[in-house]
Amino acid sequence: MKRSILFTKTSKTTPKDETSFNAQTLIRAGFIDKVGAGIYTFLPLGLKVLNKISNIIREEMNAVGGQEVLMPALTPKSVWEATDRWANFDALFKLTGSDSKEYALGATHEEIVTPLAQRFCTSYKNLPFAVYQIQTKFRNEKRAKAGLIRGREFLMKDLYSFHVSQEDLDSYYEKVKEAYFKIYSRLGLGDITHITYASGGAFSKYSHEFQTVTDAGEDLIYVCKKCKVAINKEIIEEQKNCPECGCNELEEKRAVEVGNIFKLGTKFSKPFNFNYLDKDGKTQDIIMGCYGIGPSRILGTIVEVYNDQKGIIWPKDVAPFNIHLISFKQNEEAEKIYKELISAGFEVLYDDRDEASLGEKLNDADLIGCTYRLIVSQKNVDLNQVEFKERSKDNSEMIKRSDLLQFLKEYVS
Ligand code: ATP
Ligand code: MG
Repeated sequence: MKRSILFTKTSKTTPKDETSFNAQTLIRAGFIDKVGAGIYTFLPLGLKVLNKISNIIREEMNAVGGQEVLMPALTPKSVWEATDRWANFDALFKLTGSDSKEYALGATHEEIVTPLAQRFCTSYKNLPFAVYQIQTKFRNEKRAKAGLIRGREFLMKDLYSFHVSQEDLDSYYEKVKEAYFKIYSRLGLGDITHITYASGGAFSKYSHEFQTVTDAGEDLIYVCKKCKVAINKEIIEEQKNCPECGCNELEEKRAVEVGNIFKLGTKFSKPFNFNYLDKDGKTQDIIMGCYGIGPSRILGTIVEVYNDQKGIIWPKDVAPFNIHLISFKQNEEAEKIYKELISAGFEVLYDDRDEASLGEKLNDADLIGCTYRLIVSQKNVDLNQVEFKERSKDNSEMIKRSDLLQFLKEYVS
């Protein structure tokens, strides 16, 4: 994409009421725009990153057999009454339709997915299966001060699984746990994301959260020094030792909950009378699990973790573009390189602006934070070379013009 046609700009200012680092930085760098507390527009650069995060999640959900659907954000009151959550889900946004009926904006989708699954599943022959979506959720969060980490409108991937027995749920749960580890590692958060024991509810002793360590986090976790498993603050009261290895060397850290997985048991199948006929024709309970991840929260968390005083440093696989190409004044050689890179399949942000100085372009590149950068100055053109720099490193290197494509193919992709 050519920078000259991008309708957004970087800016030096941020809205006065925006106090979170992630949103301030993303606004300055032109990734998001603030509409209200906890409400943001994703601009072209921001949407690219959000889609990359979502696609990594989608691939791993497909790999564990998840079938993608898209459920409505507008949900009738009756389904929330069936589970007693119309009155008890604090953060539910409620509204009245022109038919005078009441609705909630979906804050989570057990109430929609359970009756949906019920329509297609009557026998053990239909089980197990898992359904997921990547969809906008609404929650009337009281503290919407953490930028993308706590939106009132935000993106969630929610997967729901349906089983004949607790054992079957248990084994699928372990598979999804592994898929989550892969996701965080592909997002560049593997080393700092801890599986965290949290309280479980009626159907299991524990649920598991995935917590990414950063000072911007709202949660406190206790990380085992030996096995890196963590315990949530809420359960540290009862569980003083690491539940995995038993050791008692736990370190307190601030963290953001970037996902969680939960054994629901019959909590939602019961209220909807969702059951199945087993091999002997006997009626049995459906056992459910649910598995959430917040792509927009992850985007904000990555910015909190990977930055320096100049701007964002995106991990490779979620950067808005592979390469930020910068020309000193618009020159033919840069234009040629841009075309070559695009045909070779690279995603390139080409700063072709005439009016901006090299200094401004370099500052913008630092702020926007694409992983790799190429600079084509007149001097480089004369010397038949291109300057290559990684956003995370201080030094740049000169690549022979004739070697450029081969070098990038090996190094960047
Ligand atoms: P928290 O305790 O932080 O409010 P939660 O326990 O309410 O999170 P879930 O309801 O399980 O979270 O939602 C699943 C995932 O959706 C979370 O792990 C998180 O990544 C994301 N998420 C939840 N609430 C928000 C929000 N307000 N803004 C952005 N992402 C969110
Ligand atoms: Mg919450």
